[in-house]
Amino acid sequence: MLLDCAIIGGGPAGLNAALVVGRGRKQVMVFDDEMPRNRVTQESHGFITNDGMTPFEIRQAGEADLQNYPDIQIKRSRIVEIQNHEDNFALLTQEGERFEAKKIILATGLQDILPEMKGIHEVYGKTLFSCPFCDGWELKDKPLALIAENQRALHMAKLLSNWTKDLIVFTNGQQVLAEEEKALLSAHSIQVIDVPIVAIHHDNGQLRSLQLANGEIVIREGGFVASDFKQSTPFAEKLGCQMTKNGGIETDILGRTTVSGIFACGDNLGGPAQLVLAAAAGSQAGMGVIHELVQEEFQQKTSL
Ligand SMILES: Cc1cc2nc3c(=O)[nH]c(=O)nc-3n(C[C@H](O)[C@H](O)[C@H](O)COP(=O)(O)OP(=O)(O)OC[C@H]3O[C@@H](n4cnc5c(N)ncnc54)[C@H](O)[C@@H]3O)c2cc1C
Repeated sequence: MLLDCAIIGGGPAGLNAALVVGRGRKQVMVFDDEMPRNRVTQESHGFITNDGMTPFEIRQAGEADLQNYPDIQIKRSRIVEIQNHEDNFALLTQEGERFEAKKIILATGLQDILPEMKGIHEVYGKTLFSCPFCDGWELKDKPLALIAENQRALHMAKLLSNWTKDLIVFTNGQQVLAEEEKALLSAHSIQVIDVPIVAIHHDNGQLRSLQLANGEIVIREGGFVASDFKQSTPFAEKLGCQMTKNGGIETDILGRTTVSGIFACGDNLGGPAQLVLAAAAGSQAGMGVIHELVQEEFQQKTSL
């Protein structure tokens, strides 16, 4: 089956891209294996008209919108391989099905890499988060921890001081803050603890305290982690797309990567991670696909 467009990833980026391509009267299939980055959270914030909904509800509402368009299909399948042929792409699913498409949109998102410590996965998405714009309001004025083993420690600490005045930075044994940076934070009543963390204690995901390697237990009610992240799939690099300095996929304003016929959108791009921005980038990539397909159809007719 030759699709006009195959979209890999059915988060806000992929679904909005599908909406634009489908409304552009092109055959589009969204492949998705239901493992979005924010699957651990109970509420999503900051996306106008969707504020406070669960990630699943937002996804359901998005998929419902797509049902109005006969040219859009959603397939619950993981894509395991993409081959770039002369004038189209071949996609292979985990189940061994093969599809062909004229254009590809990568909307596979990112995956967070959390520091290794007991209890962190149980609190992540419940009372420990990665983005103050998403969850700062819910934790405002509480005694918070910032777990930061990397160079983002200072930036995140400054930002979080906007939501609480009771903040402790835990570097988990890493020397990521210079003495003058610690002094700056101290001047704003932000303590820095360099002792490694042994465990995060919690009740059903409600963070209670952090236990340190020196035996100390520090009471906190929630917090943030400056997590690292990586692309969910290696497709962009394998297909030869230019990547940005911070591991995102380089695109132009219409989602075009540096490889002809391949578009990308959403968290994949490595910019600020927000649902509304992912959806917007999906819309841009969808427009990019329609522009190219229409242009190519004109060229074919002219050369006849
Ligand atoms: C804990 C947490 C809380 C957050 N809270 C908020 C919030 O409150 N507000 C906000 O605006 N943002 C929030 N975010 C950020 C938000 O989740 C992302 O910005 C957004 O999900 C990005 O959308 P996306 O479509 O690019 O990627 P995703 O939503 O991650 O979707 C990517 C999709 O691609 C699929 N996929 C990946 N590889 C394949 C493959 N090979 N084959 C098929 N399918 C594949 C995945 O299963 C997934 O469904 C949060 C993030 C985290 C980690």
